[in-house]
Amino acid sequence: MNLNFNTKLAEGYSSNSQIARVLSEAWVKENSYCPSCGNLPLNEFENNRPVADFYCLSCSEEFELKSKIGLMSNTITDGAYASMIQRINSNKNPNFFFLTYTKQWSVNNFLIIPKQFFTPEIIIKRKPLAETSRRKGWIGCNINISNIAESGKVFLVKNAEPINRDIVKESFNKTLFLREKSTDSKGWLLDLMNCIDSISKDSFTLDDVYKFEDKLKVKYPNNNFIKDKIRQQLQILRDKNLIEFTGRGNYKKV
Ligand SMILES: [Zn+2]
Repeated sequence: MNLNFNTKLAEGYSSNSQIARVLSEAWVKENSYCPSCGNLPLNEFENNRPVADFYCLSCSEEFELKSKIGLMSNTITDGAYASMIQRINSNKNPNFFFLTYTKQWSVNNFLIIPKQFFTPEIIIKRKPLAETSRRKGWIGCNINISNIAESGKVFLVKNAEPINRDIVKESFNKTLFLREKSTDSKGWLLDLMNCIDSISKDSFTLDDVYKFEDKLKVKYPNNNFIKDKIRQQLQILRDKNLIEFTGRGNYKKV
């Protein structure tokens, strides 16, 4: 994997955002593979298709690409708020590639957020565009990636180091089962993943997770069996190999 953009392709473009778009798309096309099945190269959709940018010919996964100069950030700017929420609620959103690059046009981070990690909670409404704007009143959105569980951030390149393709595929496919879950049960699993992520130790106990009971009660006020729910989610996460059970109420992050 060559981490440098092919800057020759920038010739003829003058706007920085256009150059960034052309170079990052070309880089993905040249260097990326499908994180689900490993197939390469990825195919590009025709320009101006409203949502996805790439797809895999072999397994049909679809990908949207956003790129940004500089460091990884917690929020990523995306398109219209209403259509984003609609896509998420109808399960029509693509997987999401996020790429950061340096001033020297070289890839620093390249990660995929599988589509099953998108929930309305991570989408933040931006202020409507001002009256003076050409598209006045238009409302865009930001994606808050700090609210996405670690299992939902699968790096293909991290700090300018490409990650082994088999590891990427395994991480991507490990959470596909979430797509089959109802919105409600997926919500519980994602919440529990976030709780576990915020435990600073690699090994933790059932009591460590019970500490989130009050927080979860705020989110699920009608549920009077939060502890039961917690145990049930831990069992699913264990069965799916996202955590390890080490006996007597002890768990380990995988
Ligand atoms: Zn594929």
